[in-house]
Amino acid sequence: MDETTQDAIEELHAMLDRARVIVPFTGAGISTESGVPDFRSPGSPWMTNKPIPFEAFLASREARIEAWRRKFVMDDHYRDARPNRGHRALATLVAEGRSPGVITQNIDGLHQASGIAEDGVIELHGNGTYATCLSCGWRHELSAIRAEFEASGEPASCMMCAGIVKTATISFGQQMPQQPMLRAHELTMSADLYLVAGSSLVVFPAATFPVIAKRNGAKLVILNREATDLDPIADLVVRSEIGPALARLAN
Ligand SMILES: [Zn+2]
Repeated sequence: MDETTQDAIEELHAMLDRARVIVPFTGAGISTESGVPDFRSPGSPWMTNKPIPFEAFLASREARIEAWRRKFVMDDHYRDARPNRGHRALATLVAEGRSPGVITQNIDGLHQASGIAEDGVIELHGNGTYATCLSCGWRHELSAIRAEFEASGEPASCMMCAGIVKTATISFGQQMPQQPMLRAHELTMSADLYLVAGSSLVVFPAATFPVIAKRNGAKLVILNREATDLDPIADLVVRSEIGPALARLAN
């Protein structure tokens, strides 16, 4: 790690020490360090398949079969993913009451696995570790859906109402979830330090929340391996892996 990066990490920790309300906003970068692939990044093997839009998923049995097939292939790739130092550092901030919760674009459930309670993780793109019925909302476990899919080749339908079942993620073309969006806004407005960790800040609404925080008077820190469009308005940019930069909080 070069000297500039080390200096930036020192400054990051000084800012964390001074802050009263720290709100982390996380993206794929924090989880790639746990071996979870970044599905949206260019060059990702997952981007060779065009995403299945929500409308197509609803309209076509074939699209649903393809969606489940891809889902289970992906799951096999990150089945063993565990929270890393970055996740654990943020969990410590929440446990110590220095942060009210984490806003995330990730669907991997690793913030919860790191010890943050369900209501302390605001998931903007939903959760890929279980499924729900689109008609009645009933929760379905993936293990049961997979066993049935592999036995019959049929996409899951709801055992309660026979409705269409889908992973609890937000697909392309699907409306943003209202409750998490409201809570994310609330948390964003409460921050005096807004800590972006591992998001390239291009997907809506990721690009807007840090701007809202900044306009509301929060300090904005962007911790990401690559440059982002919001770097020019950040109070501090740290160009680094997340885990090493935050590790000392995790103890
Ligand atoms: Zn149902």
